[in-house]
Amino acid sequence: MSHSPMLADLLLSRSATDRSAELRKNPEWIAGALKDPSTLFICVNNSQAPVRDSGLRFFAFEEIPQASLTYFLGRQGDTAFFGVSVDADFVSAHDPDSWLNLRASGSRLSDRDAGLLVAAVALDNWNFTHTHCPRCGTHTVQNDAGWTRRCPTDDSIHFPRTDPAVIVLVTDPQDRVLLARQSRWPQGWVSVLAGFVEAGEPAESAVTREIFEESGIRIDPASIDYLGSQPWPFPNSLMLGYQARALNTDICVDGEEIVEAHWYDRTQIKELCETQKLHLPPRVSIAHQLISRWYGQELPSNTSFR
Ligand SMILES: [Zn+2]
Repeated sequence: MSHSPMLADLLLSRSATDRSAELRKNPEWIAGALKDPSTLFICVNNSQAPVRDSGLRFFAFEEIPQASLTYFLGRQGDTAFFGVSVDADFVSAHDPDSWLNLRASGSRLSDRDAGLLVAAVALDNWNFTHTHCPRCGTHTVQNDAGWTRRCPTDDSIHFPRTDPAVIVLVTDPQDRVLLARQSRWPQGWVSVLAGFVEAGEPAESAVTREIFEESGIRIDPASIDYLGSQPWPFPNSLMLGYQARALNTDICVDGEEIVEAHWYDRTQIKELCETQKLHLPPRVSIAHQLISRWYGQELPSNTSFR
């Protein structure tokens, strides 16, 4: 395996706070921090949070609904940050048009705010979809300041689910890039190939398996190069970014998940993007960063498909 420089501009992998994980198991400290006037709260509903020109809109303890689920996200200096799950009524009462998801807000947020919101959205998604014990069916309760859930019947502890997925920039011997269109995307939208790592499967095996299944392209295992990761809480993925070289160029798409795929050189990318015939993923995605890295410069503007 060769070693290339890692991706440097992953917008959802940024952070500027200390997670202070040791404090999650200190209920007295958490209770004090919740009521400390300097503590800031990030309200989340349906993967969205209110964003202003200056960044995330934070709330004070008195402003958040009582009995809300809260998640201790970490500290920056003496300031503690918590995520809060709020309902649709709260959104309606607080400038509803300002609520954005991470796809829309990711490139506008500071390092600190991006890191806080990614964690808050991930915990909110998980706490709302994993409410019962998988062993006995009892309703579980929040634990460790929101980072685990505990079953009151059998005392089992349950951790947030994160699904690893590989996303791969594949090139051929002419250094063309393989881009594909998913069946649910309109004509002209393309991206690099990606897929979930299966149970008991190493990530590198998922790279070769997914690429072959979706495109018929065989990957040279020795060429697989890891380039970095980005959380993608839609709802709970962790994208592992790779590049790899193809051993063949005859494309055969699966016809279900992927309906078309082609090789593109840099001149074609430039022309097709500038004439709006091709639309690439948004800057906030690891796919965009992989393609941009291969392209060698910032991709042609106004080409993003979201
Ligand atoms: Zn249980």
